[in-house]
Amino acid sequence: MEKEIDINKVVRQHLEMEQFFTGFALKGKDIKSEQQKPEDNMTNAEKAAELEKIADEVNQCRKCSLGSLRTNAVPGEGDSNARIMFVGEGPGADEDAQGRPFVGRAGQLLDKIITAMGLKRSEVFIGNVIKCRPPENRDPRADEIISCLPYLQRQIEIINPEIIVALGAPAAKTLLNTNKSIGQLRGLFHEYYAGLGRPPIKLMPTYHTAYLLRNYSQENRKRVWEDMKKVLAELGLPVPEHGRK
Ligand code: SF4
Repeated sequence: MEKEIDINKVVRQHLEMEQFFTGFALKGKDIKSEQQKPEDNMTNAEKAAELEKIADEVNQCRKCSLGSLRTNAVPGEGDSNARIMFVGEGPGADEDAQGRPFVGRAGQLLDKIITAMGLKRSEVFIGNVIKCRPPENRDPRADEIISCLPYLQRQIEIINPEIIVALGAPAAKTLLNTNKSIGQLRGLFHEYYAGLGRPPIKLMPTYHTAYLLRNYSQENRKRVWEDMKKVLAELGLPVPEHGRK
């Protein structure tokens, strides 16, 4: 627990410093502008090409030690114009082996949740804060998160989703620049700020599907489904009467 708090503190300090010097803000309600951002004028093909460029950079990246330990980097995948982005912490063994996000058991559960929402996996974007698997699935270190986060920030800027679903505490804490627990954060919309002149993006934290598999109680399943129903309602999409049981 002590280690987790320290990591979060170091990442938070880095993000606050970045915000101070560059105007890039992950949190705060004081930055408002009607200014249109460049990505609003990009075609889907241009967005897809930009995402491909980021994926190429990730696949070559050796900015932190995880780069030399991975089998494959996992840049993320999905619709370049997705209305929803799902963001987890980092790749596991299956993802490392295939170079694709959320393809193991936790990924299969995420697929079921997406289907229950009336969506297809190809209609959303799925990615992670960290693009390479930490050995033995250990928690990513603060320096690794700081090195890797700009890739995700750029992906969010390009896709410009209406809603980000942060899967699990590490993703939610990093994107919201907070040290609150997932229990305090989930179930409510928060705001992710992508920078000066950009309107905030709604962010819904919920449990990671790997956590859900480890704690597969009806209560936890219901909590995640309630969170996803709020996402659908916010997007004006039909909310299925019955979800994951
Ligand atoms: S984890 Fe991120 S920063 Fe580190 S080597 Fe992989 S892509 Fe680069």
